[in-house]
Amino acid sequence: MNIPQSSYPRVVIIGGGFGGIALAKKLSKKEAQVVLLDKHNYHNFQPLLYQVSTGGLEPDSIAYPIRKVLQGYPNFFFRLAQVKEVKTDTKRIKTNIGEIFYDYLVVATGSETNFFGNKNIKAKGMAMKTIPQSLNLRSLILENFEQALLTDDLHERDALMNFVIVGGGPTGVELAGALAEIKKGILPKDYPDLDTRRAQINLVQGGDRILPAMSEKASEKAEKFLEELGVNVWKNIRVTDYDGKKATTSTKTIFEAETLVWAAGVKAVGLKGLDAEELLSRDKRLKVNEFHQVMGLEDVFAIGDVAQMETKEFPYGHPMMAQPAIQQGRNLGDNLVRLIENKPMRPFVYKDKGSMATVGRNKAVVDLPKFRFQGVFAWFVWMFVHLYFLIGFRNRVVVFINWVYNYIRFDREARLIIRPFKKQNKVEKNTLMQD
Ligand SMILES: Cc1cc2nc3c(=O)[nH]c(=O)nc-3n(C[C@H](O)[C@H](O)[C@H](O)COP(=O)(O)OP(=O)(O)OC[C@H]3O[C@@H](n4cnc5c(N)ncnc54)[C@H](O)[C@@H]3O)c2cc1C
Repeated sequence: MNIPQSSYPRVVIIGGGFGGIALAKKLSKKEAQVVLLDKHNYHNFQPLLYQVSTGGLEPDSIAYPIRKVLQGYPNFFFRLAQVKEVKTDTKRIKTNIGEIFYDYLVVATGSETNFFGNKNIKAKGMAMKTIPQSLNLRSLILENFEQALLTDDLHERDALMNFVIVGGGPTGVELAGALAEIKKGILPKDYPDLDTRRAQINLVQGGDRILPAMSEKASEKAEKFLEELGVNVWKNIRVTDYDGKKATTSTKTIFEAETLVWAAGVKAVGLKGLDAEELLSRDKRLKVNEFHQVMGLEDVFAIGDVAQMETKEFPYGHPMMAQPAIQQGRNLGDNLVRLIENKPMRPFVYKDKGSMATVGRNKAVVDLPKFRFQGVFAWFVWMFVHLYFLIGFRNRVVVFINWVYNYIRFDREARLIIRPFKKQNKVEKNTLMQD
C-alpha cells in the first residue's frame, strides 16, 4: 500500500463514516500512524439521503472527501480500499489493493440494509443506505412518472405512481413526508396532463406505532403530520414479498406499486476473519467490552453501528445512530493514546442527546432528554442540528441555501434523471450499484 515505516504504532481504521472520522480526528495530532481505509473516498451524511432521493439536495452536498477532513496531518494516510479479510493471528488486513499490517485495528464499517433473507425484496425493492442507491431511487421515481404519462392503462398508471415505504422508523417517516410534499407541491405543476392526485404514498410499519424508538407523543404527532400530508400510515402490517409490481403482506392487504423502498432494518457490515460466532451478537454486530475491544482480541476494536457494547442501560447495544458512533470514536481516540502511553483505558459512557425526525415543512418531532416538542420549533431544531453535524463549510452553506430556496419556492430542483435506472435492468443494476 506504499505507506512509509514509522516509529509510531500503526492504527488502521476500516471505515470513514461517523465513527471512523471522529476517531481519526482525535488521533491526527498524536504519536500514532493512522491509516484510514474506505471503499469510498467520501464521507456519506446518511441522515440526508432521503433529500437526495427526492430531489431536495444534490448528492455532492451531503458527501465530503475523506482526504480533506484530515489534510495536513503528516502521520495520516488514506487509502481507497475495500477490505476483504482480517487475519488476527498475523495482524494483517487483506484488501483489493494489497495487504497491510496493523498494531491496532479499528473496525468502523457501519451497517447495511437488512432484507431478512428475502431475495425478491432485495432484487426488486429499493434500499437507501448509500448515495448511489439514493440516486437510483431518485431516477426510478421520476422515470415512473414519465412512464405513467405514456400508458393508457389506468391500473398500470396507478401502480407507477404508487409508493410503498416499508419501515416506520425515521428514514421511512422522512421519506414518506418528502414524497407527500412532492405530490402536493411539484407533481401537479410538472405533470399537468397526469392526474397525480391518484398517487398513493403508503408507509407500512410492522409494529403498532411509527418511530418506535421515540416517545409515544412523538409517534402520535408524526403520524398526525403524515396523515395531514396525505400519507396512508399502515400499522401492524408486515410486507412479506414483492415481485416488482405487487407487495404482499402479513394481512390480506396487497399494494400495487412500482416503487417499494425497504427501510425496515439494518445489519452490521461484517468482515471475513472477524465472523466467528463467538465474536458476534444476534444481529451480527461485533461484541465489544466497555473499551471498544472486540471480545478476546486486545488489539482489535469496533465502534459505531458494527459494534455491540452491552450495558445495563443498553442491553442490546447502543442505538445504530450517528451520535453513539461519534462518541465512541472520540472515546476510543483517547483510549488508544492512553494505551500507547501505557495508561489505563477509560470505559465508554454514552451521553444520550435525544432523537428527532422531520416529516416535512414546519413539521418535526424532537425528544430531548428533558424536553419533548413537536411542530415548527422542532423543525428548526432539526435543521440546525443537521447543518451543525454536516461535514464541510461548503456543504453547510449549500444545504442551507437549498433549504431556504426550497422553503420559499415550495420546490426541489434536483429532480433530475442523471443516471437512468431502467426497471428492466433493475436486478442487474441493483447488484452492481448496491454500494
Ligand atoms: C437513510 C438513513 C438515515 C439516517 N438518519 C439518521 C439520523 O437522522 N440520525 C442519526 O443519528 N442516525 C441516522 N442514521 C444512522 C447513521 O447514519 C448511522 O448510525 C451512522 O452512519 C453509523 O456510523 P458508522 O461510523 O458506524 O458507519 P457509517 O457511517 O455507515 O460508515 C461506515 C463506513 O465504512 C465503509 N466500509 C464498509 N465496509 C467496508 C469495507 N469492507 N472496506 C472499506 N470500507 C468499508 C463505508 O464505505 C462507510 O464509509 C441514518 C441512516 C440512514 C441509512
